[in-house]
Amino acid sequence: MRKIDLNNFQVATSETVRDINSRIMLNLVRKHQPVSRADLMRYSGLQRSTVSAIAERLIAERWLKEGAVGNLPRGRKPTFLHLNTERCGVVGVDIQPATTTLAVSSMDSQFLAQESMSTAKDPVEFISRLSRRINDLIRAHPRNSYEGVGISLPGRIDTSSQQLIFAPTLGWSELDLKTQLEQATGLPVELENAANACALAELWSGEHLDGVRNLVAVTVSDDISVGMIMNGQLVRGSTGVAGEFGHVAQMQGGPKCRCGNNGCWEVLASNSAAARYYSESASVPKGEVGSKSDMAKLPFGDILRLVERNDPRACKALNQMAHHLGDGIAMLVTGLAPDVLVVVGEVTRAWGKVGPVVAEAVKRRSFTHAATRILPTDPEAQPRLRGTIALVLQNHFGAPSIA
Ligand SMILES: [Zn+2]
Repeated sequence: MRKIDLNNFQVATSETVRDINSRIMLNLVRKHQPVSRADLMRYSGLQRSTVSAIAERLIAERWLKEGAVGNLPRGRKPTFLHLNTERCGVVGVDIQPATTTLAVSSMDSQFLAQESMSTAKDPVEFISRLSRRINDLIRAHPRNSYEGVGISLPGRIDTSSQQLIFAPTLGWSELDLKTQLEQATGLPVELENAANACALAELWSGEHLDGVRNLVAVTVSDDISVGMIMNGQLVRGSTGVAGEFGHVAQMQGGPKCRCGNNGCWEVLASNSAAARYYSESASVPKGEVGSKSDMAKLPFGDILRLVERNDPRACKALNQMAHHLGDGIAMLVTGLAPDVLVVVGEVTRAWGKVGPVVAEAVKRRSFTHAATRILPTDPEAQPRLRGTIALVLQNHFGAPSIA
């Protein structure tokens, strides 16, 4: 039950009922398509006339299409309904510190085109380049009608001002990406923290997650961020910064973190932490090739490649990272008791080695561990980018906000 907020409410009108039923219908078609009106009656419990009226309206608004005619042994042959995937084109933008990926997707979250560009240190230059690329992509795929641009980024967005307020890996501060991009593209822009976007992607299109209402997504890259969906709703907290578990201290007097504190979870369990563990175990003197200072720059992908070749130092570094990752995940499992916790990031490529260490840490440190499934996401499925599509789709498929 949600308490009615007397500072921000909408009273119900006759439109509200229609809107709710219509969105339920849209979701039922999405799940069961191709589906007949008779089946929709059964799934929804609504009267035949109501189902027909809603279906007609959704067809008129181009959300649904009529397709093949079904075969029944007797009686009238039903016409199946399915989503009109071209109705809702979305441009997804995944901003990461080095590279930004853009994609065009239809309503079924299938990417029709994808490209990437470098992420500029100067946000003004970046916004102008990004708007040009978005407009070019839209022009190149004119058959879709576009409903919006979804953007995921390694930062937090103030929910009231929509300003980017915490993005240490990007080095941008207090930036209004939303308004500037909306003006440049003429489309509504939805901005979201990458971990929140990944959590939404899992909720909307995760396999085997039907019925899941409590889900936590942990994104691991050079930072660690957490997105939480509790009781089916994204948790944003005061000013939108909830989920910064990456900056909860795990080790007193530990290494210095970019947030200014010491021993944060991020500084112990992120990709850069693994690179640091690897360099710390080097025995080559400073200044020479292969020395500690040299190897601190080793990309995480290289460490994973060394792990594949069973390089003992790389395996040890990854193992140290996995231990700390497990400790933090144990904290989330005990504190939040999610149905599912998904891990997103390059580290899942080595899940055969990392997963058991994480599972062991969670089992040892969390007495509630049995209730939570811990799942790595497939990097090939591009969870961050899928999240950007979910940001726009939820405006049409999510429950309308009332009261
Ligand atoms: Zn920190």
